Amino acid sequence: MQNCVYEFGNSIYINLTNECSNSCDFCIRNFKEGVGGSELWLEHEPTAEEVERELEKHDLSRYDGAVFCGFGEPTCAFDRLLEVAGWLKARGIRTRLNTNGQADLICGITDAAERLAPVIDSVSVSLNASTAEKYQSSCHSRFGEQGYAAMLDFVRACVRVGIDTTVSVVDLIGEAEVEACRKVAKSLGAKYRVRPTIEENAEY
Ligand code: SF4
Repeated sequence: MQNCVYEFGNSIYINLTNECSNSCDFCIRNFKEGVGGSELWLEHEPTAEEVERELEKHDLSRYDGAVFCGFGEPTCAFDRLLEVAGWLKARGIRTRLNTNGQADLICGITDAAERLAPVIDSVSVSLNASTAEKYQSSCHSRFGEQGYAAMLDFVRACVRVGIDTTVSVVDLIGEAEVEACRKVAKSLGAKYRVRPTIEENAEY
């Protein structure tokens, strides 16, 4: 099954990669094979052209927007993400990126937010914890606790470059941690969202 594009709710979702720099305890991939009836493990990493050909099969004007999400971390396919997002923006489609916020470390760059700003309208970043230690204990970034710091820097940069930026946590972290994360979100200048542990429309 090659499901690089799928519909869910009022949006069209783009599934670019199986790769991720984290291995979160609560990741939907640990529990399910897909979302909303679509199996999401990719047989191969699709090229940008392949994704665009799939998108062309849909009437894109019917959707609220396009969401880069899927079963892996979209910024692990950063160049393809930029290319497909640009293709969508050229067609007047709103774009959203759901991400773990580690793009700079994943790509070995320092300006991921700046590169995304021309083609991504909104970003939802998984904050998940109020400290690097707590984050690493449940998200297991391959970058260690640096992953958390990089994610916070990415959120600040997204806010700075004018991307509509939300950070989210899953509800299983407990009330005290939900409130601690709310304060982190405020300090970053980002919107804040608490989401159900296994949400039907996305892993972020
Ligand atoms: S929840 Fe997101 S960041 Fe965590 S392992 Fe799954 S795809 Fe990666």
